[in-house]
Amino acid sequence: MYKYELHLHTMETSRCGHVRAADQVRKYHELGYQGLCVTDHLHEQYTSLMDCHDDWKACIDRYLYGWRLAKAEGDRLGMDVIFGAELRFPENDSDYLIYGIDEKWIYEHPFVTRMDHQSFFDRFKDEVLIIHAHPYRNCDTVYYDCVHGLEVANCNPRHDSRNHLALALAKAHPGLYRTVGSDAHRKGDEGRSAILTARRVRDSYEMKALIESGNYTLWCPEYEDILKECEAIPHV
Ligand SMILES: [Zn+2]
Ligand SMILES: [Zn+2]
Repeated sequence: MYKYELHLHTMETSRCGHVRAADQVRKYHELGYQGLCVTDHLHEQYTSLMDCHDDWKACIDRYLYGWRLAKAEGDRLGMDVIFGAELRFPENDSDYLIYGIDEKWIYEHPFVTRMDHQSFFDRFKDEVLIIHAHPYRNCDTVYYDCVHGLEVANCNPRHDSRNHLALALAKAHPGLYRTVGSDAHRKGDEGRSAILTARRVRDSYEMKALIESGNYTLWCPEYEDILKECEAIPHV
């Protein structure tokens, strides 16, 4: 089985990140992961995007810094470092993990950060995979009809992500995909969860396809009870 992290930040790009991209990759390599998704915050307050004002290309040149360092280290170690993003819109504090994108996609869609969840979903739902990160962390209203899936277990130790509520929502809506994430920001956050698969996943498009296929197992010792209940939900 191959092991992949779905939710991770780098210090170079995410303001709340405390671990260098290359160190994150080395740590996951030591822990026996085959790869990880870099999902740095794509949100004006959590990155240096604000400093770029209205120059999207400059914003993204800056945004990709952490990802590119992680990718280079991954290539050196033979790991699959996969591109993703954690997007937040100005409307509220909900975060969305995006897979099935690449550098070109980000450059070609200026200021997606200034949209709202509904118009983003309407415009991109057939193109990218949108997973609601820690749906109930800081909010009670989850617009589950504007995502493809839910992060049912977020393992960040400094937040109460109220994962049991995410599980209840997943049970009520079995058509939504289910994922887990370590949401690794600091030393000690890494390797708390994974998606396990029989096939290697080499890029963001393959990760999107894997999640859509349902051919994976979720792993997260801390929330084993939640994952057990999750596994019992039929895939529709
Ligand atoms: Zn963060
Ligand atoms: Zn995150």
